[in-house]
Amino acid sequence: MPDNYQLVETRLQTPLDNGDTVCNLCLWRCRLRHGQRGFCQAHVNRNGVLYNLSYGIISAIDVEAIENKPVYHYRPGTKVMSIGSYGCNFRCKGCHNLEISWGVEALDKLARGESTDAWVKPEEVIELAKKHGVEGIAFTYSEPAVWLEYVIDVGKLAKEAGLYTVYVSNSYVTDEALEEVAPYIDVLCSDVKSLSNEFYKDVCPTSTVDEVLASIKKAHELGIHVETRTNVIPGKNDDPAELKRIAEWIRDNLGEDSPWHVTKFFPAYQLSHVPETPHEIIQLAADQAKAIGLKHVYAHTDISCDCASENATVDDWLGKTTNEVQEKNVCAASCCGTEGILVKKFEKEAGLLK
Ligand code: SF4
Ligand code: SF4
Repeated sequence: MPDNYQLVETRLQTPLDNGDTVCNLCLWRCRLRHGQRGFCQAHVNRNGVLYNLSYGIISAIDVEAIENKPVYHYRPGTKVMSIGSYGCNFRCKGCHNLEISWGVEALDKLARGESTDAWVKPEEVIELAKKHGVEGIAFTYSEPAVWLEYVIDVGKLAKEAGLYTVYVSNSYVTDEALEEVAPYIDVLCSDVKSLSNEFYKDVCPTSTVDEVLASIKKAHELGIHVETRTNVIPGKNDDPAELKRIAEWIRDNLGEDSPWHVTKFFPAYQLSHVPETPHEIIQLAADQAKAIGLKHVYAHTDISCDCASENATVDDWLGKTTNEVQEKNVCAASCCGTEGILVKKFEKEAGLLK
């Protein structure tokens, strides 16, 4: 197991009389018996207490422009250090990030005590961010709601160090979790995957559109800068009328100034047979949104996917300057041009931890 590895208690949990415990981090509200893990696989009940298996475990890391998240209206022109762990509370059929975001294998190893991932103290994340001269830290790649204990600890230190924080989420999160994390988060970049319950049922059978939208609205009310993103998947959520309704919801609930990013789908996983989103649909969605009064709509026809799983390892990242690293920031796959996530595994063998 990683040196210094610690199981950290799940932050929001309700023990029941029979030894079961309910996790209140996300809207699954998993009720778990001793030995059981939640839907995300990242929380486990051991003798009536829930623990986060992935605290301190970092699966991917990169230095990039905040615009890549995509976030366009918060500190534009600055750089963030993006980090993620393992675990997601959705199972999207077109997910590009299975190994990392679901992280089933990695979380199994952690649960069995066989992991070789590095255990990174929150302080070390801040040190690394300073070393690479970024202005912020982004919690991304995996779902930060299921990594909340670490997100909060890193977020607190980031604030003390004068760094801003970005939280990239599917917004299937409880109100209490949002309230806990809000003081340490400056920006929420949230998916609005669809306005159709059928779509969400396909993605995550327990979730409904209203729950997701309510969480996004609550984050906005808590004072977090919110930018939303819709990844348009041909045949799934590309109905122009539905796309227009998403824009109307943003205008009416987050305000006409609230940025909306319309992004292109790239074939992946169970939707490998679905073609890339045609440029015209993205543009139509953006034009419609502007016509109904949304002021900041961005049609991303060329944004990269997250498929660069065979890129350089963290060994290539350490010991080099940020500029040297960025020169190699090239996607190993052919689908998205020259961008991609540089570093995937944050292995102990890479020697970050002295
Ligand atoms: S974070 Fe969500 S999916 Fe994971 S155990 Fe808690 S309630 Fe379940
Ligand atoms: S919410 Fe994102 S990371 Fe999670 S399964 Fe869906 S696409 Fe993958």
